[in-house]
This record gives sequence, structure tokens and C-alpha cells, in this order.
Amino acid sequence: MNHIKTIANLDRSSVLHPFTQLKEYASGKIGDPTIVTGGKGIRIEDAQGHSYIDGFAGLYCVNIGYGRTEVAEAIARQAYKLAYYHSYAAHTTEELAILSDRLVRMGPGKPSKVFYGLSGSDANETQAKLVWYYNNLRGQPKKKKIISRERGYHGCSVISGSMTGMSFYHDHMDLPFPGILHTGTPHHYWGAEPGETEEAFSRRRAAELEQLILREGPETVGAFIAEPVLGTGGITPPPAGYWHEVQAVLRRYDVLLIADEVVCGFGRTGADFGSTLYEIEPDLVTVAKGLTSGYVPLSGAIVGEKVYAVMEGAAERVGAFSHGYTYSGHPIAAAAANAVLDIVEKEQLSDRARIVGSHFQKRLKERFAQLEIVGEVRGVGLLGAVEFVADRHTKQRFDPQLKVGARISKAARDRGLIARAMPHGDILGFAPPLVVSEAEIDEIVDLAYRATKQVMDELAKESTTV
Ligand SMILES: *Cc1c(COP(=O)(O)O)cnc(C)c1O
Repeated sequence: MNHIKTIANLDRSSVLHPFTQLKEYASGKIGDPTIVTGGKGIRIEDAQGHSYIDGFAGLYCVNIGYGRTEVAEAIARQAYKLAYYHSYAAHTTEELAILSDRLVRMGPGKPSKVFYGLSGSDANETQAKLVWYYNNLRGQPKKKKIISRERGYHGCSVISGSMTGMSFYHDHMDLPFPGILHTGTPHHYWGAEPGETEEAFSRRRAAELEQLILREGPETVGAFIAEPVLGTGGITPPPAGYWHEVQAVLRRYDVLLIADEVVCGFGRTGADFGSTLYEIEPDLVTVAKGLTSGYVPLSGAIVGEKVYAVMEGAAERVGAFSHGYTYSGHPIAAAAANAVLDIVEKEQLSDRARIVGSHFQKRLKERFAQLEIVGEVRGVGLLGAVEFVADRHTKQRFDPQLKVGARISKAARDRGLIARAMPHGDILGFAPPLVVSEAEIDEIVDLAYRATKQVMDELAKESTTV
């Protein structure tokens, strides 16, 4: 216990934690940090010996599960052989070349080359620069604006944070940057008019996108960026017809499509990529999280043939491609990614996510759809969400002060299940490792159900005592 206290105190006095209320943490009001010490399969363990089912795979990244020694060995092998060399000026390593060939062969759209970063955020920053570079090189210097969606999530850096369509990522930080625009979120439950079908709603969202492009001037709009399934903004699969309608608009105005596959990529939705599932043909693709299952940091901006051809075509005129990080294509990260993709392929994790995922979606609906405080149960593959509302008939939200989503998440955690309170609304999100079994799915759904019932009881008591 003494050692745990020491670590907690060191942490509290020196770590600036993401998404943590600083005063509550500094003052001890929200208690000590959870010191995570180990993980195996779908479970993690903390320093006090508590074990949790990780129903969110870290931050939806640990797709192959925790403690895979194959990956640890690949990392160690590369570290012993050569821990670092850069990839500037045509230097490479075996692992990097092999990984890139794999990604070009498996990626959606028409991949040509892969540029590497360390995070989803920096990869989307690269995508923005690629859009600007491409349009400069082909003599369209005004075609620079990038459209993303309200409630889209694309990261936290300056441009990627601007692309993110949630105001609390912008407030007090001078975002969004000019030139990054937002269009309506494709969430049928909240966005549709009474009686509007999914197809009609999708057409309306696509028409709004078209209006925005026309209002801004198509000659000024360079790209549209979106997640195939909206992730952090609520785990929201697209309404029927959405991607078909949207892509028709983008083609009409020569607007590049960036598919942000950071969550969907490598099996999460039950297909290799979200783009495969929804028949999306992107020009640029962002990958991160599942690429290494979070074992080491690595991201990729996969550049399609159309964009790459313009870049290579202009090379004699403009010189070297002047963009790169010290750690672009880091050999240890590449070795880890190859080992992770070996597991994804060998264990057919996309298929697994489809099969176990359909069991998961069914169970989630069975247990939650009829509950009085549940507005919507949704998901695809091994991505799922339950959205809570005060009145399911009028779709009235809970008073945010009640923090219903956060309380249910906390109650689940007290029962040994990590399910994430999504930041926008009262939403409990699930994204377990893709190696989860059907029996474990039942356990996850059951724990979440009991946590929800507990909070429903508390809410009922509170409302009678007021
Ligand atoms: C997590 C995420 C990112 C950002 O990745 P980081 O590694 O956290 O910078 C970008 N896009 C999507 C869809 C994500 O879920």
C-alpha cells in the first residue's frame, strides 16, 4: 500500500492528465489515480489487485487483447537488432518496407503509398497538408477548405482538433482554425424529422453538404473528412444510403474524401475497414489505433493513387516532399504492427468481430432496448452504444447535471467492467478487444445492465425525495 501511495503522490504532483478535471484531481476530490499494472486477454489489473473487463479495449485500440507475447517478442527482436533509424532520404528497414506493402495491398480505395506518424491526430494533420499540397501542385491554390462533421472525432492537434466537431475540444483553445468547416451529423435518432426514413434523412444530410460546398464555392473546398462509423461523437453507424449520397456530392465538386479509419480499421466493424463495409472509396485513409493494437505508437496516412500521381508528377519542379518526423516509420513500431497484423490475419479478427459482433448487437438490444431510460441501442460489429434519455417518448435528454452516463459508467466500473461514458450526451460505449468470446460478451452486457438498473433505482429515489 505504501508504494501505491508513493506512486499516486508522484503522479498527482507531476502528470498533466488528458481529460481530467485538474482541480478535482489535485485536491484529491476524485481520489487516487488508477495505477494500471497488467493486462491479459480482455482484462486489465490495477495496483490494488482489482481486475476489470476492458469493454473499451483501452481507447478502442487493443484489438488483439492484452499481453500478446508474440508482439512483445517482435518488439524485442527489433530493439536488439536495430532500435532506431530514420526514413528520410530513402532510408528504410525491412519491417517498414514489409508493413507498407501490406497496407497498400489491404487498404481501401486505391492506395499507393503510406506516410507514417505516431498518432491519429498527427496523421490527420498530415492529411490536411496533403490536401493543400495536392491542390497547390495541380494549380488549384484556392481549393483548401476541409469539411468535417459535427460530432466527428479526428484528434486533438491544431488542425485535427479543428476537424473534431465537438465544442469542448475547441473552447478556450482558439479552435477551430479558419478553413475547417462542419456539416450536420448523420445521426437519425436525433436528427431526423418525425416520420423521415433513414434514406430520406441521408439525402437531406448530403443535400446540406452540397449546399455548404456551393455556398463556400466548390473551387475553395479541398476535402471532406469523416469516420465511416462516427466514434467518439457517439458510436453512431451511418443511416442507410448515407455514404452513397455523400460520395456522389463529393465527386460532383472534385472534393477529396479522407476516410478516418482510426477506430474502424483492422476489423472493428466486422469488415477489414469501415470503408469496405459501407462501399466507401476514399482518396486518403487515416489509420492508427488498431494498426499496432496500441502496443506502441504508430499511425499512417495512406495516400491514394490519384493524389500520389500529382505529387510525383510535380517532384522535378518542387523538389523533395518536405514533410516528416524523426520517428516516421520507426522500426520498432513497424515490427509491432507486422506482428499485430499477423495476429489479425491468422485469427481472422474481422470475421470474428462480425460473428461475435452480431451476438453482441443482439444481446445489447435484448437487454437494453426496452428499458425506460433507453432512447437508442446502436452499433455495428464490436462497436456498440446505449443512449439514455429522461423520456423515451419525447426524446427528452436528462439534465446534464445528473451526469447519468458517467454514473452508469462508474457503477459498471465498480462491478468490474470498463464501459466508456462517451463525452457527448448520456451514452455508454462499448468496443471490447476483438478476441472477446460470446460468453464474455454476455458477461459484459449483464454487468452493464445491472449497473444501469442500479442507477435507475437511484434516480427514482432521488426524484421522490426532491
Ligand atoms: C483516436 C482517434 C483519432 C486521434 O488519434 P490519437 O492517436 O489519439 O491522436 C483520430 N481519429 C479517430 C477516428 C480517432 O478515434
